[in-house]
Amino acid sequence: AKTAGRSTLRFFDPDMQAVVTARAGLEADLRAALAQDEFLLHYQPQVNHAGRAVGVEALVRWEHPERGMVSPADFVPLAEETGLILPLGRWVLNTACKLLAQWRGDPDLAHLTMAVNVSSRQFRHADFVDDVARVLAVTGAPAGRLKLELTESLLVEDMETTIATMEALRAHGVGFALDDFGTGYSSLAYLKRMPLDQLKIDQSFVQDLLTDPNDAAIVDTIIGLSRSLGLEVIAEGVESVEQRDLLARAGCRFYQGYLFSRPLPTDALEQFLRDRI
Ligand code: C2E
Ligand code: CA
Ligand code: CA
Ligand code: CA
Repeated sequence: AKTAGRSTLRFFDPDMQAVVTARAGLEADLRAALAQDEFLLHYQPQVNHAGRAVGVEALVRWEHPERGMVSPADFVPLAEETGLILPLGRWVLNTACKLLAQWRGDPDLAHLTMAVNVSSRQFRHADFVDDVARVLAVTGAPAGRLKLELTESLLVEDMETTIATMEALRAHGVGFALDDFGTGYSSLAYLKRMPLDQLKIDQSFVQDLLTDPNDAAIVDTIIGLSRSLGLEVIAEGVESVEQRDLLARAGCRFYQGYLFSRPLPTDALEQFLRDRI
């Protein structure tokens, strides 16, 4: 009989009932969305100190027929729980690599890197390395321009497997950024062993940089750490010139945020990139 766990809550708590029903609706919609082609990618430019574009980050969007644009913050966690992140993640990677392949040979765009977010469940899947290699081969995207964004949770969960997977991907030429850096639990010893290229300073530290001395100290520490580990560092969520200037003074040379551009659909992105070369 279905008396245990969540079904008990569902029966007794009308608020919880509403949450569960809304979630179940979203989950059913999410399954259908892949088949119905409702996902798209926006791309946010990443710039250097001179304001020139050096790369982009692919960010998934869901254009729901009734709900409108659904934020990835609302459906990515659900996709992870249900396992739908596997086909969705494959679609994201394939779509981003197709664009990256189109840029090949374009004098304005060929130098740009493409960052793609990879969820922990996707990264841990036994086929992940083969999937990435296949997407690169099929699309013809240059592996050396693809950068996978991982989060610190991967370090804590199973360090040995994580490093082995990263090294297998690196052998194909793929690079890595550690996303949301500073919010997780990476130990320095682990960081040193990972074949990383870049640390991304989490936007929560950038947000209060000008007013919170603790955040300013954390940012300084991350930049110093990246320097001593020989890693590139990029700040995300940069919204003001003052934040950019403070980051620059602290030694950060790459930035991403609304100050430069919001995430853009492909056409607007390419316009932005050609104007900013
Ligand atoms: P994230 O990887 O940390 O991505 C950065 C988020 O910050 C994006 O939100 C971006 O639109 C937003 N952002 C960029 N600049 C600024 C700024 O100046 N100010 C503020 N306040 N926000 C800014 P978005 O697109 O809503 O994505 C949210 C999260 O969803 C991402 O966080 C990432 O964790 C996840 N996500 C997005 N696309 C994918 C994907 O294709 N695969 C996976 N696994 N996760 C994804
Ligand atoms: Ca990211
Ligand atoms: Ca991030
Ligand atoms: Ca984040």
